[in-house]
Amino acid sequence: MRWYFIIHLPFLSYAGMAIYPFIFVKKKHYAKDKYIMNHEKIHLIQQLEMLILPFYVAYIGHYLWNLVYYRNHNEAYRNIIFEREAYYRDDDLDYLKKRRFWAFLWY
Ligand SMILES: [Zn+2]
Repeated sequence: MRWYFIIHLPFLSYAGMAIYPFIFVKKKHYAKDKYIMNHEKIHLIQQLEMLILPFYVAYIGHYLWNLVYYRNHNEAYRNIIFEREAYYRDDDLDYLKKRRFWAFLWY
């Protein structure tokens, strides 16, 4: 049984975006892309582990902190701990089976 919903949003500025329990994809066929889906599923698990709302506060807080530090949107975004974990691990399709609780703290 699938524990999340996939929604096609053509106007999205990213390939994918996760807001529990939804994964939004810019293009329909991205829903079949194992790596994009793995990346977004990592975010869904991160959100569940942080009881959802605190995740967004931490995510945006870390982004703003990084923006001051890097003065560059892309660097700031890529260095959010949640993105570091997701980008580092999205090519490992078994990652979620072995991932530890709050694993993002190690990235
Ligand atoms: Zn991401």
